[in-house]
Amino acid sequence: MAPESRHWINNEFVESDAKETITLHSPYDESVVGTVPVADEQVVDSAVAAARKAFETGPWPTFTAAQRAQCLLKFADLIQTKADEIAQIEAESIGQPVAFAKMIVGACVATYRYYAGWTDKVAGESYKEEDGTYRIVQYEPFGVCAGIAAWNATALYLGWKMAPALAAGNTFVFKSSEKAPFTPLIVAELYKEAGFPPGVVNFVSGGGSTGQLLSAHMDIDKISFTGSGITGRKVQDAAAKSNLKKVTLELGGKSPAVVFEDANIENAISQNSQMFLMNTSQVCAATSRVFVQKSIADKFIEALKGAFKGAEGAFQNPKEPTTMLGPLADKLQYDRVMSFIQSGKSESGAELLVGGDKIEGQKGFFVQPTIFLNPKEDAKIYREEIFGPVLNIKTFETEEEAIKLANDTAYGLASAVYTASVSRALRVASKIRAGTVGVNAVAFPSAITPFGGYKQSGYGRELGKAGIMAYLQEKTISINMAV
Ligand code: NAD
Repeated sequence: MAPESRHWINNEFVESDAKETITLHSPYDESVVGTVPVADEQVVDSAVAAARKAFETGPWPTFTAAQRAQCLLKFADLIQTKADEIAQIEAESIGQPVAFAKMIVGACVATYRYYAGWTDKVAGESYKEEDGTYRIVQYEPFGVCAGIAAWNATALYLGWKMAPALAAGNTFVFKSSEKAPFTPLIVAELYKEAGFPPGVVNFVSGGGSTGQLLSAHMDIDKISFTGSGITGRKVQDAAAKSNLKKVTLELGGKSPAVVFEDANIENAISQNSQMFLMNTSQVCAATSRVFVQKSIADKFIEALKGAFKGAEGAFQNPKEPTTMLGPLADKLQYDRVMSFIQSGKSESGAELLVGGDKIEGQKGFFVQPTIFLNPKEDAKIYREEIFGPVLNIKTFETEEEAIKLANDTAYGLASAVYTASVSRALRVASKIRAGTVGVNAVAFPSAITPFGGYKQSGYGRELGKAGIMAYLQEKTISINMAV
């Protein structure tokens, strides 16, 4: 049966006579997964109008914090029942292994539960009378918010963007990626079942043209974008040229991992191989530049090479429950990663240590886990985000040198430090210019702490208290005490 593909507006699936559609193919066997309509101006307008009406006049603005929490908690319970279905469709659409996709659903559930707890926790401020004026600061939702998502973990973005926005009392229009449009449509009716009134949650499908319509829309108050820096700039530009809607940008990275000689080597190896390769390294926070101290470099590099070689067998049919690693998301992504590898071989000055080709004997867009040693400073593979299983390694001698290398990037999303010394870990963590630092582990985003980028990895934060504050604005009320 073809997956649900209609837009979800005002708590209903809506038919649209779309001039444009997108057909998705499995990156494993190229079978057709389904076709979605591209939301045009009329569809986007009707989704935004539904969200506006729900925010201004629907029952939603009268909901108490406890009622909003109830909706979020119920949805968290309900989405869990769809974990298998979501995992299957993500495996078919982007080749994500079902086991990993279910973990992502788990993270989405945790995010809804976490923000349910926040609905009544954002207090205002008050200032005692001064010069005859008493002042109150209260926090209010923006109104109509929109989310534009990357494809690598759609259920995660349903949580990171929508859970805090809804907890804060906003209404939402979410646009999935054109590579992974089905998960929101699988769960759409669950929002209704959970008690969200019509128009509070709306889903539209489409690619860049739909994203552009949302970014430039005159009646959207805030937009939260996850994707590449190039597109993020377009979103910000369109926001600036339209109604100056507030923008949060969650962009890419070229994150460093620094391995000191006193690190637990086995742990550093597994973090920089198994964990790095998770989701076929199509992870924004992947630490794709590894810096290892010279005294342990030979041993570390040999072991990491072995781990990468050994991981090749884990790339299998993503629909099998035991599969750890899948193909790249589609042909475009495969071609992109292979072109980086080609550039690594021909112009980076680096030594190819392992990988560097497609995986033989496998149908689908499988690429060997690949390591390059000592690329030139200006090599494309060293500077640009690849979003695939390709790692760069360089060596260093001193802590200062390691910090300099780690920070020598336009990005600042994530990082990791491997050492047995707590004081060194904290010293280095404080000097790394990134939104997240993992000590002796890759730093998995957690619902309770903020996640987001320094430098060109974006601005604004998702998750944690910062995540809900990003969907609220301050209002100061001054009271003339003389009257
Ligand atoms: P992308 O920039 O190609 O697309 C992201 C989204 O933007 C898609 O929904 C797409 O349809 C939409 N879009 C395209 N053109 C647009 C336009 N002109 N205006 C508005 N929207 C437009 O990125 P991608 O390939 O989907 O995702 C990979 C990128 O996302 C990587 O750079 C990765 O690091 C980044 N990412 C960041 C995070 C984070 O939290 N920081 C998480 C995951 C992925």
